[in-house]
Amino acid sequence: MDGTTHPATPPVLILLGPPGAGKGTQARMLEERFGYVQLSTGDLLRAAVAAGTEAGLAADAVMKAGGLVSDQIVIDILRDRIAEADCAGGVILDGFPRTTVQAEALDVLLGETGQQIDAAVSLEVDDAAMVERISGRYTCAGCGEGYHDSFKIPAKAGVCDSCGGNEMKRRADDTVEAVGARLEAYHAQTAPLITYYDGQGVLQRVGAMGPIDEVATTLGRVVTEATTPA
Ligand code: ADP
Ligand code: AMP
Repeated sequence: MDGTTHPATPPVLILLGPPGAGKGTQARMLEERFGYVQLSTGDLLRAAVAAGTEAGLAADAVMKAGGLVSDQIVIDILRDRIAEADCAGGVILDGFPRTTVQAEALDVLLGETGQQIDAAVSLEVDDAAMVERISGRYTCAGCGEGYHDSFKIPAKAGVCDSCGGNEMKRRADDTVEAVGARLEAYHAQTAPLITYYDGQGVLQRVGAMGPIDEVATTLGRVVTEATTPA
């Protein structure tokens, strides 16, 4: 301690983990509990594809094949989104960064605003469970709430618990073929970030093989500790 008081900056949390680990599910629960904003680069890219923007056109085929979209496109999208007013209370990064280049760009970006990473949480799961999680995943087209054929079923079949909408959709890349490529990309390019954030002293490992609520309880504890001033 240097004896001076430092202004509190909005919390920045990162959720790391392979596709299907539960990043989106847990990010939405953290958003509700703590009021931080979930920033999913996957969601932002899917919106760009749907809108037919230049970035979306470049990303579409790569995403369908299960590869990683170029660092520049993703960094630009994230930089624009994190600057929006609703992020001023804190953010949960879901699916970003996914490469060392992205992690370094995030450090620079946060440095510009005097922010820091409070915790990079690695959701630890077995690859074998991921195919089952991904192939059973669907979401509400209205509000984006996530569901699963076996592990998270809405109270009333086909009706969203959150918004009451009755249109559900499945992702174009949630296919058995693309899952293999996505897991490969995770191990080759994203898993090294576990060491990167361990080196920064912000890594937290959370077992994510248990039920959704159990993971949420552990994660909530980790986030509370990471964001409570000493
Ligand atoms: P990610 O964002 O990491 O790709 P999701 O949060 O979309 O993963 O979760 C993938 C699928 O697995 C979803 O259908 C979700 O409902 C389900 N799921 C998430 N966490 C768990 C869990 N702990 N146990 C069982 N199923 C889960
Ligand atoms: P997700 O919704 O996080 O599972 O991401 C879906 C797809 O979007 C990934 O398989 C990638 O093709 C792309 N994507 C999402 N986030 C990133 C990122 N940070 N870097 C590169 N590609 C990304």
